[in-house]
Amino acid sequence: MADDTKHPSRRARCANCSATLKVCRSEKGTGPAYCPTLRWTDVLAKVRSIYRDPAIRRFARMASLQEAECYVGRGETKPYVLHPVKPRVLEVCEFAEKMGYKKLGVAFCSGLAREAEMLVKILEHRGFEVVSVVCKVGGVPKETLGLKEDEKICPGEFESMCNPIGQAMVLNEEGTDFNVLVGLCVGHDSLFLKHAGAPCTVLVVKDRVTGHNPAAVLYTSGSYYQRLLKTGGKP
Ligand code: SF4
Repeated sequence: MADDTKHPSRRARCANCSATLKVCRSEKGTGPAYCPTLRWTDVLAKVRSIYRDPAIRRFARMASLQEAECYVGRGETKPYVLHPVKPRVLEVCEFAEKMGYKKLGVAFCSGLAREAEMLVKILEHRGFEVVSVVCKVGGVPKETLGLKEDEKICPGEFESMCNPIGQAMVLNEEGTDFNVLVGLCVGHDSLFLKHAGAPCTVLVVKDRVTGHNPAAVLYTSGSYYQRLLKTGGKP
């Protein structure tokens, strides 16, 4: 058990980790005072027992196999110089095949309809049966959620609400084995993930400004997006 009397807060802060040889990556490694590997041993011991569940173990094992297979030349040189070769869309196909999934769901944002169409083509070409559902499914007016005219994107016009629970329920009824998210909005994706019956993965995360590459803002947060660190992004 971690010692909570010495450290009343066990808040993990891996993102701030200062260890050179990290205990989570090396048996000889160490960790700082806020290291969850060292301080959440009770919780992490319980987690190990979760992985003993055969279905979870298989899922996690296939994910790790897929992870390794994304690199070429493994084991040929030491130290290994990372050489990844598989884009995420291929990773999704190969993982689904490893798991024996036949029927895939694609939950997409109407703003990424072209991307969804291309993805479905690729998945079908790969031999999957594909069910796709757009975020606006049901055509439910935003007023249903209590939105006022000035809270719409285009005030004064009819706007369907994004309906991630509808997307999830249609895919649940269709009995998809695995769902792929394409560009669902922040929060809508949360609702989809909460209500989907099958395991899900994300192919595309929506970022309206960066061509769906939110990491671009992180990379430039020391320069063109420094306002995020100085004013919290506010004007
Ligand atoms: S688990 Fe510990 S060693 Fe690993 S990154 Fe987190 S704080 Fe650092």
